[in-house]
Amino acid sequence: MSGVSGFVSSEKPIEVVGGEGVHLTAADGTEYLDVGASYACAPLGHCPPDVVEAVVEQARELLYVQGSYPVGARAAVHERLAALAPGDVDRVWLANSGAEAVEAALKFARSATGGTKFVAAQRAFHGRTMGALSVTWKPTYREPFEPLPETEFVPYGDADALADAVDEDVAAVVLEPVQGEGGANVPPEGYLRAARDAADAAGAALVLDEIQTGLGRTGTLWACERAGVVPDVLTTAKGLASGLPMSAALCADWIADAAGPHGSTFSGNPVVAAAANATLETLVAEDLPARAAETGAYLRSELTDAGFSVRGAGLLVGVEVDSATRTLRRLALDHQVLALPAGRRVLRLLPPLTVEKRHVDEVVAALSAVAEVPA
Ligand SMILES: *Cc1c(COP(=O)(O)O)cnc(C)c1O
Repeated sequence: MSGVSGFVSSEKPIEVVGGEGVHLTAADGTEYLDVGASYACAPLGHCPPDVVEAVVEQARELLYVQGSYPVGARAAVHERLAALAPGDVDRVWLANSGAEAVEAALKFARSATGGTKFVAAQRAFHGRTMGALSVTWKPTYREPFEPLPETEFVPYGDADALADAVDEDVAAVVLEPVQGEGGANVPPEGYLRAARDAADAAGAALVLDEIQTGLGRTGTLWACERAGVVPDVLTTAKGLASGLPMSAALCADWIADAAGPHGSTFSGNPVVAAAANATLETLVAEDLPARAAETGAYLRSELTDAGFSVRGAGLLVGVEVDSATRTLRRLALDHQVLALPAGRRVLRLLPPLTVEKRHVDEVVAALSAVAEVPA
């Protein structure tokens, strides 16, 4: 996730002017199949009509009012997320970006536990504000801003290393149930359960960052369901409001009741809330998590049959390639397929959950044509 405008330029040579379903349209009229450009922020595809309509309607009525005045759209998001939350993690804190949801989780965990340290995983990505950055692994992101709050990084998937790192000074163990930016890494069976046990034994909070894995991406509404583990805080963002800025930290009572002072001017604003309500309604009504499971299994098996090394879950898929940059460029320019990197040698696919098998066939054909499969 690099800068997209302003000081740091990683702009792509394609000016996107429109989107519909799984496609994006460029200024020159070219249509691209999007299996990554929307960064998991378009679970229903681009410009889903129900979401667009809800946004327009809400914008006409009320764009903004201070968060301490009750607003129907915001109350409905609270209710929906509480109803969809796994286990008892149903106290909803709304924010405006993934990093802010993580930020809230870290602050709340400190307040509720009295601990100050964090334990996170190597290759983890949790965002770039100071707190979120402190649990993000990549040295090039972190080092210029040190000292950051103290975090011990342990190898992802190693339950013993995790248990060794968690002591009474730890406020939270912070993990992605499947690592996204770190390479679509799926941990071994039992890992999240072991993390749950280690956090419990030390009185630390277990924070599962589902900003990328949540909302059906891995084939169940929340990825933690696959492991049968309920965290103390679950963060969600990305596709929550179909790409408008909304995130949430879903908290257990013991966290919410002890949360220290925190707040945000924009959080839960009516228009973004309307987008989230329409998104969540469609996601559930069309059972998109189940669809992601099915299409994702098809995608992974087709890629495997084509000779690729593949990992991931549902529609969060990593494909090993010789060079991610070169492959992405040729996919885009020669085949009009937009994907993402996850490190130098992994291509990441995060299509809308509404992607169909015929689109999967297009992606696999394009990848087979351009990618040098590493030896
Ligand atoms: C994208 C992402 C974030 C950060 O979200 P922003 O909205 O960019 O702040 C945090 N955690 C995970 C797992 C993510 O994928």
